[in-house]
Amino acid sequence: MAHTTRRVPHTIVVGGGIAGLSVAWHLARDGRRRVTLLEHELLLATHSSARNAQIWLPVDPDDGALARRSAELLTGLLGHEHGWLSRCGAVVLAATAQGARSLGEGARLAGLAAHPMTRASLAEHAPAIEREDCGVPLFVEGAGVFDPHAMLTALTRACRDAGVTIRTRAHATELIVQGGAVRGVRLRGAREPLDADEVVDAAGAWAGRLGAAVGAPVPLVPLRRHLVLLAAPPRGTTVWRFGAPEVYWRPESGGLLASPCDETPHAPGLPPVAPEALELLTRALAPLAPSLLDAPIRTQWACLRTYAHDRQLVLGPDPRLRGLAWVAGFGGRGMTVAVAATERCAQALLDDTPLPAELRPERAQPSALLPAFAA
Ligand SMILES: Cc1cc2nc3c(=O)[nH]c(=O)nc-3n(C[C@H](O)[C@H](O)[C@H](O)COP(=O)(O)OP(=O)(O)OC[C@H]3O[C@@H](n4cnc5c(N)ncnc54)[C@H](O)[C@@H]3O)c2cc1C
Repeated sequence: MAHTTRRVPHTIVVGGGIAGLSVAWHLARDGRRRVTLLEHELLLATHSSARNAQIWLPVDPDDGALARRSAELLTGLLGHEHGWLSRCGAVVLAATAQGARSLGEGARLAGLAAHPMTRASLAEHAPAIEREDCGVPLFVEGAGVFDPHAMLTALTRACRDAGVTIRTRAHATELIVQGGAVRGVRLRGAREPLDADEVVDAAGAWAGRLGAAVGAPVPLVPLRRHLVLLAAPPRGTTVWRFGAPEVYWRPESGGLLASPCDETPHAPGLPPVAPEALELLTRALAPLAPSLLDAPIRTQWACLRTYAHDRQLVLGPDPRLRGLAWVAGFGGRGMTVAVAATERCAQALLDDTPLPAELRPERAQPSALLPAFAA
């Protein structure tokens, strides 16, 4: 009897950060796709996925279910939770009682408990806070600090075990479209294109470029944010003040890692440090933790958080162009939610499982911009 071998479709994933690695793993793990992952840099995950604040604090109600599922998947990959997450808890400061209720509700959706704080527990967990009128404090039990290196190494290993071909120093310059469908990509410096049945755009701050050139634009805005390592006593736990001026800090490497939560539109790339970030940090810390203003700066860096106009994720197949799919727009939450969000994208590609309309790429019209930046 003649055997017919089923042809396994080939998927190219563009981008080797947490989004690209996760979606490549989900697509390849049960053999229904042959996957090639392309990363422009010499090493995987050297942009946002490696330069973030490492805070696992899912208090946005939109993130709860995805954060829980991402944690479950990562713990499964590493065999134990403490391999990637240290659950040290976090203090959140809301501007109003209503704001505190909503943050507490968000934490509960992620499976975390949030308690009001006494003055004594605030002094214990956030000793840098010197002002009593600091906002409405909540302690989020089960929030933590993650280890990006452990997470990304585990995902890379899972990709390799699932048979994903990983190519670094491989820059996708252009999508090849024939007959109204994506057929592959062109690679910088390569004579031959790389054929594929589908391409998943996981290119972080660069994600808007490939689709825009072939009539499937998604307006994504990369926003620069700074992190500053202060030589201050590493006491207490993570503290995040929501509302204006927003600021956070947490113990790191014998000091405190702080951010003025700045958001300045910036072209895709590695942004240089801008002096105004320190001014913003000074203004945010002064009314809350003035003694931190005297702490010398050990080091500082900036990187990009990339958002769609409505700050929702951009996930799944693009109905405007057959063979194109997206895992983008992770903004400031990618390390917390991407492993589960990309699982949903893979289910949509493999099984036609529908994704919520508010996450689909076609909702983001070319004219849409982040409201704050649509001058
Ligand atoms: C300062 C800062 C603090 C943050 N803090 C937190 C936090 O505390 N908690 C949290 O959960 N999240 C945090 N985030 C957000 C999180 O880091 C991001 O959401 C996440 O890393 C985005 O992952 P990504 O894979 O989409 O993008 P990236 O990690 O940037 O990966 C995209 C990759 O695509 C590659 N690429 C681009 N174009 C091409 C091409 N044409 N061909 C081939 N490769 C290409 C790039 O080289 C890059 O490696 C923070 C982000 C920043 C900047």
